[in-house]
Amino acid sequence: MRAVLSIGSNMDDRDALLRSAYDYFAPELVAASSIYSTPPWGPVSQNDFLNAILIIDTDRTPMQLLAAAQEVENAADRRREVRWGPRTLDIDIVQCLIDDVEVISADPVLTLPHPWAQERAFVLAPWLEADPEAELRGEPVRALLEGMDTSEVRKVSEF
Ligand code: AMP
Repeated sequence: MRAVLSIGSNMDDRDALLRSAYDYFAPELVAASSIYSTPPWGPVSQNDFLNAILIIDTDRTPMQLLAAAQEVENAADRRREVRWGPRTLDIDIVQCLIDDVEVISADPVLTLPHPWAQERAFVLAPWLEADPEAELRGEPVRALLEGMDTSEVRKVSEF
């Protein structure tokens, strides 16, 4: 299975936290975007996020991948000993492809493709960098990004 993961962090050591996800998935990695800085959205005042896209080839099922992603998230939380406050590491499964066919799931435990991916420049811009031919629900990611404001999605470093 091919999977597209969106990873994000807005804690102090967000760079190290993104790298912990990168290192975990490194054996399965096909492509990674650069690391991008993006402003937070919503009413809660918080730090800017770092976001990136990882594309992996894996023998895991989608549910096994979700469980693995949640383990990596939990490990990040434990290391920082954060009991309350913002998520240190967020890993969303944006898309799963089995034999080049997009997996569709309405299950709230694992909704595929990720329901908000197509509206989020901080997902689409790094994804386009990692895979210029990417498609989401049959639409080229390049086309989905056209007309979107990407001015605040800034490349800051490489993995
Ligand atoms: P959040 O706190 O926003 O990261 O949401 C985590 C919850 O979203 C978990 O309970 C997951 O089971 C659920 N979820 C549903 N679809 C997805 C997906 N495509 N990727 C990651 N989590 C998902």
